[in-house]
Amino acid sequence: MITVAAGSSRPVRIGSEAPVSVQTMCAGYTHEVDRCVAEIERYAKAGADLVRVAVPERKDTEALKEILKQVSVPLVADVHFHYQRALEAIAAGVHKIRLNPGNITDREQVNAVIDACKERGIPIRVGVNEGSIIERKDKMRRAEELGKYFAGHRSGHLLALMIAKLEEYLDIFAARDFHDVVISAKSMDASLVIDIYTEISRRFDYPLHLGVTHAGTVDSGRIRSVSALSTLLANGIGDTIRISYASDHIDEVKDGIEMLCCLGKRERKGVELIACPTCGRIQVDLFTLVKEVEKVLMPELTLPIKVAVMGCIVNGPGEAEGADVAVFAGDRRGIIYVQGERVANVPEAEILPRLLAECQAFEARVKKGEARLGEKKVHIVPPAPIGELGSGEAKIRAGLVEQISIGQT
Ligand code: SF4
Repeated sequence: MITVAAGSSRPVRIGSEAPVSVQTMCAGYTHEVDRCVAEIERYAKAGADLVRVAVPERKDTEALKEILKQVSVPLVADVHFHYQRALEAIAAGVHKIRLNPGNITDREQVNAVIDACKERGIPIRVGVNEGSIIERKDKMRRAEELGKYFAGHRSGHLLALMIAKLEEYLDIFAARDFHDVVISAKSMDASLVIDIYTEISRRFDYPLHLGVTHAGTVDSGRIRSVSALSTLLANGIGDTIRISYASDHIDEVKDGIEMLCCLGKRERKGVELIACPTCGRIQVDLFTLVKEVEKVLMPELTLPIKVAVMGCIVNGPGEAEGADVAVFAGDRRGIIYVQGERVANVPEAEILPRLLAECQAFEARVKKGEARLGEKKVHIVPPAPIGELGSGEAKIRAGLVEQISIGQT
């Protein structure tokens, strides 16, 4: 296990039993101090545990000292090619370095960075990316050996090259008796990411930084990243993550945190929203309602209250059984339940304010110790529908909703 920013007010432990941390990287220039600080704090507020900044020029490392005074999360300096930038970042007080020894040809320069980190207790992330391995067209004897081991794998040659390169890098650190290392091995291919990290988790005893690199747009990248990273994390592999794709990096942080919450690896803060996918039985404009519920409830509530929004009374009650607060719809109305007890039956236009009021009242009771999250007092008894169900979205759009009775509050 390593500790980033040890001795500070916000140290981050990576590895062993430490919680999986979420990272992202600034998209803007580091030397634009105010803008960079604002960007880092935006990610910190969204829940990022660590933020990385690029330091390609001296003016970037010069800005670091001021940035470090103003931000609330540990910073990682991403160094490529120029070992001086690493030394300058270390001198400025940065908390971690991301370094690829393959980008710095002079071994003495790499050693100087390692020694400076060792002196100050600063960890280093060392990694291989599929892209850089291919670009260099490495032909290593060790890779040839490993290639035979991975002969049956569809990307066996690449796996062998990446592992051989990591071994070579780790030897450099071991030779300086430096062990504050986190390792990564990224690819744009989600299944290769699963295979490479599974393999290196068996071969090396260092914390692992997981990521799918160059994952694409927010839609494709989100699926690529989450499919690879959640598979690994569910198997106990991985200590810190970065989800990355071509979009506002705040989405990476939110997706990373949501993924960890879904896997039970992070405690949820704020509402957990459940919504039905809708079908031909739907009886309110559920897509609009769910979006509104998310927008209104998320900023208002601080406890992880489970809120269910269901489109009809057929499966709605059953699907909402596990929720603290549930609304299911019928005939342009919403029936609201709190822990299994019916508390309201309101027209569609009043669903949102009433749901918010019920959630706020429930949260206040939980905070006072008068109620407990996840507890259900009574089973939901669905009201009996009268008339034909199955108004469908098209009918709702046309205002042609079947009349059904949904009982009284
Ligand atoms: S809750 Fe009702 S509308 Fe929603 S998917 Fe289930 S059956 Fe369909």
